[in-house]
Amino acid sequence: MRITRTVAETRSAVAELRGKGALGLVPTMGALHAGHISLVRAARAACHAVVATIFVNPTQFGPNEDFSKYPRTFDADCALLEAEGVDLLFAPEPAEIYPEGFSTVVEVEGISDRLDGHSRPGHFRGVATVVAKLFNIVAPDKAFFGQKDAAQVAILRRMVRDLNFPLELVVCPIVRDPDGLALSSRNRYLSPGDRQSALVLHRTLHRIEARAAAGETDTAALLDAGLAALADEPGVRLDYLRIVDPNTLEDVPTLRHGALVAVAAWVGPARLIDNVLIPPRP
Ligand code: AMP
Repeated sequence: MRITRTVAETRSAVAELRGKGALGLVPTMGALHAGHISLVRAARAACHAVVATIFVNPTQFGPNEDFSKYPRTFDADCALLEAEGVDLLFAPEPAEIYPEGFSTVVEVEGISDRLDGHSRPGHFRGVATVVAKLFNIVAPDKAFFGQKDAAQVAILRRMVRDLNFPLELVVCPIVRDPDGLALSSRNRYLSPGDRQSALVLHRTLHRIEARAAAGETDTAALLDAGLAALADEPGVRLDYLRIVDPNTLEDVPTLRHGALVAVAAWVGPARLIDNVLIPPRP
């Protein structure tokens, strides 16, 4: 696996990989776990060559967020990516991505202020800008993202459509631990007690999903059931629990056309997110 640090090196390394079949891109912030690896495997299966990136993107963190303490496990990440047959890893420093005088951003208006965008102002501007740059640097045929970050998926889909990026966005299912906890780099922040408490997020989504499967379509009733489940863990501080259209991230009154149930909460020092997609009713 080749490792590049600059845009110029990356472009020339990518040029050597191109032309023999589809080129896949897997953007990450590192601290890799089985969720990330599932994206790499999906890319490996669908593409001739796979480029991964590791970049803890400063512009998607708020001033009081965890940018400086975000886990950085570069050597272990490299070993994992190498073992999965990744062809190229692009791991730039912030100054390579945001050189002196950098002043252009990608703003996916409206939708970027919903869910995590509401709680983390400017977060999705940072995400859309860095992903647009990675798309321009690597020019992949397919780019792989996790359903775990459902709002990010909706925003990047919109960006790809609106700005005519010539690529396919592939969304991979959420990978969970056997007890249901969605894998996240931020799970490393959890004490054993926090980790136990964090299971309430999955239980909450599961309760809503079960009520929906039993025929409940009224989202207010479903949200009440979810909030009751969350109340079991008073130490978990809810940020949001919403039932929204997965494309617009706007609240929906009923489940008739399917919906995204999304939750975000603080568990100890970690802000965790999780979600479930409810398919349209037949
Ligand atoms: P991150 O390093 O957190 O920015 O995540 C990089 C990519 O991995 C994003 O597309 C995430 O949605 C995806 N991802 C993170 N956790 C999971 C998971 N548990 N299952 C599937 N994909 C995930």
